[in-house]
Amino acid sequence: MPTKALIVVDVQNDFCEGGSLAVTGGAQVAQDVAGLIDESRADYATVIATRDHHIDPGPHFSEHPDFVDSWPPHCVADTTGADLHAPLTSRSFDAIFDKGEYSAGYSGFEGVTSTGTELPTYLRAHGIEAVDIAGIATDYCVRATALDAAKAGLAVTVLRDYTAAVHPDRLDRVEAEWAEAGIAFT
Ligand SMILES: [Zn+2]
Repeated sequence: MPTKALIVVDVQNDFCEGGSLAVTGGAQVAQDVAGLIDESRADYATVIATRDHHIDPGPHFSEHPDFVDSWPPHCVADTTGADLHAPLTSRSFDAIFDKGEYSAGYSGFEGVTSTGTELPTYLRAHGIEAVDIAGIATDYCVRATALDAAKAGLAVTVLRDYTAAVHPDRLDRVEAEWAEAGIAFT
């Protein structure tokens, strides 16, 4: 068995029902991922999370968002909206990687811990060969994180049942991209 990590992407209050950029099914993802971690933690060498952590991300925020490249303000650093959604908490994870301080930051591979460790460096240090990816949103940050993981030479599986999409009708296109990159999705 390859040495495997679970990467949980952006399961934060603002991306769940009631948040400023709510994705339908987000709260269910939080619930289901918590269950997955309980049941399957032993399968993973490490279980980590990424968070959108915006300070001033430029045109990523807009008063007139198009919900493609611009968005209502969300996951502003040090607000409740940026916190992980219950029942997930920072204690659910071995490490948390924040991204997007001054940019869109879609990929978890841009993430850095509070002590300055970059996500790719962390995975290498743990000898990770394969990653399972879950989280929000399937067609944005999960998509970008999976593509970067494949580029980094990892064996990638997106756990589709543990994701929620902004535009579920456009997932065909995302899946075609993943397939081309050799990414598996369940
Ligand atoms: Zn964002």
